[in-house]
Amino acid sequence: VVGGGVEDLLTADGLACDVGGLDGQLEDIVRRVLSTRSIPTELRQALGVGHVRGLLLHGPPGCGKTLLARELSRRLGARPPKLVSGPEILDKWVGEAERKVRLLFLDAELDHERCVQTGEDPAGLPLNLICFDEIDALCRSRGSLSGDTSGVRDSVVNQILSKMDGLVNLQNVLVVGMTNRKELLDEALLRPGRMEVCMPIPLPDAAGREQILAIHLRKAREAGLVSPEVTDAALGKKTGGFSGADLAGLVRSATSFAIADWRGRLDGNGEANGERAVEITAENFEQALREVDSSGGGRRGRLS
Ligand code: ATP
Repeated sequence: VVGGGVEDLLTADGLACDVGGLDGQLEDIVRRVLSTRSIPTELRQALGVGHVRGLLLHGPPGCGKTLLARELSRRLGARPPKLVSGPEILDKWVGEAERKVRLLFLDAELDHERCVQTGEDPAGLPLNLICFDEIDALCRSRGSLSGDTSGVRDSVVNQILSKMDGLVNLQNVLVVGMTNRKELLDEALLRPGRMEVCMPIPLPDAAGREQILAIHLRKAREAGLVSPEVTDAALGKKTGGFSGADLAGLVRSATSFAIADWRGRLDGNGEANGERAVEITAENFEQALREVDSSGGGRRGRLS
């Protein structure tokens, strides 16, 4: 266990493994990154291919990069991903960064070492996902460097790169970088053998938005608290430009309006008048959409 900055976010919310609109990306990643790991070492050697050591997930904020990393680890029976944030490394790991980066890789190295000693095939080992969120804070191209943290940054980056170069023999590790600013990344990070699979995670299209809304409404629907007039297809059409995080926020906002309505129906004793419980209605979503619109955040400009 690595403390102070390494978070296992698997249980950070109740939706840890529900990713909407990213099936294509998941399939591509499983094929490109994992097929060469899931075969016996002997066959892999006969085929003469190495394994992919690094994956870069890039795209606008709140579109599911972190969720996707968790879902990957779940599908692959991997250990819970180790997730560290680039800025946190620079702020909090000063003086300790190298030791902490070393610790991130330790479980995988120990597993591998055990296989070497027992003669077991390391292809059967659980995968370790080591995820660097906002990796652009660490691995920026030289021209865009600023601030007084470049010493820590250089040593961490060099260490991550040398660890990745050393993963030739360690097939139970996948390093995952995540960023909203791929254009800022140092080319050295993206070359083959390092983060060679670059997967865009864009804003969801209408079908993706439908899936994401269904995920975020699932629990309330199962409890019978969503009016049948609320359809994901209609909402998906009205939410052009929304990210997954925006859609999750929209559902929260609509739910808050539904709760306010329900409170309004309670009598002075806090007893429900009649039998209606909380019900999230199409009107609550209209209220939520107006709220989004009037708050004028970044998503407003993206609305179609
Ligand atoms: P950032 O770049 O800002 O770190 P991110 O792309 O990693 O963002 P996540 O942290 O994965 O985005 O998503 C934030 C929240 O938004 C999730 O916990 C989830 O509630 C919701 N969300 C985002 N994308 C999706 C999706 N594709 N399916 C379901 N929920 C989503």
